[in-house]
Amino acid sequence: MERCIFCRILARQTPAKIVFEDDSVFAVEDINPQSPVHLLVIPREHLVSLKDAAADREGLLGHLLAVAAKLARERRIESDGYRLVINTGALGGQSVFHLHVHVMGGRMFHWPPG
Ligand code: AMP
Ligand code: ZN
Repeated sequence: MERCIFCRILARQTPAKIVFEDDSVFAVEDINPQSPVHLLVIPREHLVSLKDAAADREGLLGHLLAVAAKLARERRIESDGYRLVINTGALGGQSVFHLHVHVMGGRMFHWPPG
């Protein structure tokens, strides 16, 4: 069965810099970073997007945010501020269809986003 890129990373079938792992989530350095710190926090379970996870995965969604905040603290972007992004679906700009939270910091972000 063909797996998505994040499932392949988790299975060590595709190389990536895994920076955190626990029972339910893992985090990698984004391969095409858009800021000095750019990590992705990803559930181990293949959930396509937030819309697939929202109804019955509140615990997992909370944990994704808690891990994102912990990594932001460890990467020392907490005091200056940082941005979490969950692109969802085509108009949301999602390109990898396995739920993930972008943790971005180290530069100024603008609003509204492009
Ligand atoms: P999104 O557009 O929100 O779906 O974000 C997908 C992100 O995954 C992009 O920022 C990509 O740079 C990143 N990405 C794609 N392939 C890899 C990979 N093999 N390792 C790490 N990050 C990746
Ligand atoms: Zn997957």
